[in-house]
Amino acid sequence: MKYVSTRGGVPPATFSEAVMTGLARDGGLLLPESFPDVSAKLPSWAKLSYKDLACEIIKLYADDIPEADLRGIVNRSYAVFRDSEVAPVKKVGSVHIMELFHGPTLAFKDVALQFLGNMFEHLLARSGGELNIVAATSGDTGSAAIHGVRNRKGIRIFVMHPHGRVSPVQEMQMTTVTDSNVFNIALQGTFDDAQSIVKKLFGDLKFKDKHHLGAVNSINWARVLAQVVYYFYSAFKVQARTGAAKVSFCVPTGNFGDIFAGYAAALMGLPVDKLYLATNENDILSRFFNTGVYSIGGVVPTLSPSMDIQIASNFERWLFLRAGRDPAKLNDWMMSFAQNKRLSIDRITGSGEFDPFIRAGRADTNDTLATIRRFHEEFDYLLDPHSAVGVHVALSQKESGSPVICLATAHPAKFPGAIERATGKTGLATAPQIEALKGLPSRKEILPNDYETIARYIDREISDNV
Ligand SMILES: *Cc1c(COP(=O)(O)O)cnc(C)c1O
Repeated sequence: MKYVSTRGGVPPATFSEAVMTGLARDGGLLLPESFPDVSAKLPSWAKLSYKDLACEIIKLYADDIPEADLRGIVNRSYAVFRDSEVAPVKKVGSVHIMELFHGPTLAFKDVALQFLGNMFEHLLARSGGELNIVAATSGDTGSAAIHGVRNRKGIRIFVMHPHGRVSPVQEMQMTTVTDSNVFNIALQGTFDDAQSIVKKLFGDLKFKDKHHLGAVNSINWARVLAQVVYYFYSAFKVQARTGAAKVSFCVPTGNFGDIFAGYAAALMGLPVDKLYLATNENDILSRFFNTGVYSIGGVVPTLSPSMDIQIASNFERWLFLRAGRDPAKLNDWMMSFAQNKRLSIDRITGSGEFDPFIRAGRADTNDTLATIRRFHEEFDYLLDPHSAVGVHVALSQKESGSPVICLATAHPAKFPGAIERATGKTGLATAPQIEALKGLPSRKEILPNDYETIARYIDREISDNV
């Protein structure tokens, strides 16, 4: 399988190259040149364990990784999950909830970042090289990435979070990892400042090449790929439970990475009815799929901070497919968006929709709190605020008879403040993994919001810690 850039400016890459590069050198995102049709395999795949299914799906895309090695990578990645099913699916009220928060940092990002960490280690052992990961985080990505690569040979990770603006739980999950290859930078600025410093570091091709910079955000194809697996896994479970021919999914969305994995599953032949895209008040994507107009507004802080985004990086992958994989058309769209901060797309002729699968809705703070409260009172089930946004949208949008699988993307114990506000009760949302962090030694470097200072810091730590 070869990987092509949405911007069309680089030669096709192998899977290994795509994983190590992250963002393509032409500034585009990489995606497979085609999505294999697996319809004929579905009956036999439905009987597989999570790990076996992961191997079958991933090997179609990672065909330059020897199969025995891939099996080892998958087994190691999912052995650390507390539930042997990795992504168990529970029936709660009228929806099915797929719990994706049984990994080390209690967020769905572990599913992909454990896999990516093991994949990086494997590729580096083969090439003898080293990798320096630089990432900006508003909380969840940073901790999952740190736990994915801590203590791995040949890898260092520099994670920048906005100083004093991540939740206490998220800060502990990052800064109590004191392995010598982990560098936490508390940036005296916002998440957007951190993100723009990271972009500038990657844009400096001399710096990027000198230090072998790598990316762990969802522009990295390996992350999306690892997430494709649980769409298949949960669909099989719910089909067996309900006898339904098709299933729908509801996905709390920020950077469009998770829902793009579901989109890929649908393109591969998984019988998907609808993909419900759920946003909070930061609703650029739900507005787009209802109006065809993509226009940025300001970011407002919400109860579901991991979805507080302005520009969804993976959306470019969807646009590329919508452009019929024509990089010239995509480039036109991106250029006009850069100029006008606005992009508008026509409806599909015939159906009058913007996409055959995607339907979109949003939940505001009151909807989110009401959904958490209702699920706690009626079903004794605790939703974290991100998952609650999804469940609200699923219940308000559901338009056909297909069962809906709602993705639960974080454990409620990561957001005890929101749970308390919704239920009026304290101490409901706890997890031993979080209790265990309290009082542990922690390490972070507080640095000013200044590109040169950050670049010099990274440069120095790399040469000091060979
Ligand atoms: C990152 C995150 C999301 C959003 O996922 P995307 O792939 O960015 O759309 C939703 N919920 C939680 C808890 C997250 O950490």
